Amino acid sequence: MAEELIISISGMRGIVGENLTASIAEEYGCAFGTFLKKRLTGKKEKLSVCIGRDSRPSGEMLKTAVTEGLCKAGVDVIDLGLVTTPCAGIMVRELGCSGGMVVTASHNPSQYNGIKLLLGNSMAPPPDTAEQIKQCFFDKHFALADSNDYGRVTSNERTDTVHITKVLAIVDKEAIAARKFNVLLDSVNGAGGRVTKKLLDELGCVVTAINDEPTGVFAHAPEPTAKNLTGLCEAVKTGRAEIGFAQDPDADRLAIVDETGTYIGEEYTLALAAKYIFSTKTGKAATNLSTSRMLDDIAEEAGGQVVRTPVGEANVAKAMLEHNCIIGGEGNGGVIDLRVSPIRDSLVGIALVLQLMAETGKSISELVSEIGGYYMSKDKFTADKSQARQILDLAKEAFADAKLDTADGCRFDFDDGWLHLRVSNTEPVMRVIVEAKDQPTARKYIDAVSNIRKKILS
Ligand code: MG
Repeated sequence: MAEELIISISGMRGIVGENLTASIAEEYGCAFGTFLKKRLTGKKEKLSVCIGRDSRPSGEMLKTAVTEGLCKAGVDVIDLGLVTTPCAGIMVRELGCSGGMVVTASHNPSQYNGIKLLLGNSMAPPPDTAEQIKQCFFDKHFALADSNDYGRVTSNERTDTVHITKVLAIVDKEAIAARKFNVLLDSVNGAGGRVTKKLLDELGCVVTAINDEPTGVFAHAPEPTAKNLTGLCEAVKTGRAEIGFAQDPDADRLAIVDETGTYIGEEYTLALAAKYIFSTKTGKAATNLSTSRMLDDIAEEAGGQVVRTPVGEANVAKAMLEHNCIIGGEGNGGVIDLRVSPIRDSLVGIALVLQLMAETGKSISELVSEIGGYYMSKDKFTADKSQARQILDLAKEAFADAKLDTADGCRFDFDDGWLHLRVSNTEPVMRVIVEAKDQPTARKYIDAVSNIRKKILS
């Protein structure tokens, strides 16, 4: 059976030509346009949505289809062209749009594509709002305009400039430029190459870019994990670079390779960025329940605090706004600085990490060893909703002494580590994330979960 089209909080994702076609994209445009019109009735000026795409071969086709849907609903469209997700998010507010749409399937392989939705505040819709848009898409009761009131399409090419200006404003450009960092950049032939090279040039770096052509034909599997970045690790070593940066195709996630050519793990991206921010001020940080305790250690040392949220960028961004957080993000390499936008942004991550290196005069491997670290294990297994509930109930009994957070599945905090059991929203899968001071300690928790799982699933 063909895979189902996934429609979640952040938008839709499917396989191009199979379950994601131009006509589906057009209807999604109609649905989003209809939703915005209903939500913003009484707004005098005509509604506008800005739209961008990553580099996938199907990107232009789907963007054109979505644009058609929006125009039919009477919404003006500002075409940003080939841009990253954080760039598009910044432009929603910069241009005063009522929403934004980004044609991207993020870190998924190139046969996939998707459409991310952003509201006028640059954030993904909250769950109840996302549900309304989804219903509108399925009901197909679109509020189409008369042909005289169709939306008009204009384009805007200022995205890179606006984004770079905002990122430069949060660091000391001269201090970074004085170091003339030798940097390797791997943009996986996604949307990140062009704007990131411009940023690194502004920061006075000596840049070697690999996979920087936005062809959408990904040079390696696009998720920025250790096994996919062996080429970057090698290039850092042979090029004697001081740091290697890897982006996913829509450039909201960032992974780092140290000067020895070692992949340091995505959890360190947020930790390093936070290390710099907390060296300048103290306050609150926000991250999801599956992210490393390294952030808590860094915040605590600076007299700060960490707010934990359910997994998902929108949840973290919402908490950041509510708690006026000075930094936030997710352990998958997503860094958010509200001074730039409420969206995970690899350019923000790059700028903050280079600032930390410039200010401390330390190499990336020295900074990583100063932060220290934990042993982390991420696993998943198939479990339907009822099995998942039974597993969570047994886990609550087994770990009755732990501090429990049930905002997103169950997160158990122990003195020597933590365990997060969460149920996927889109598939019958339970995820198990464990972090502990060392591997044997983590093993203890992993084995306890395996025993519970066997009881329920056997
Ligand atoms: Mg992404």
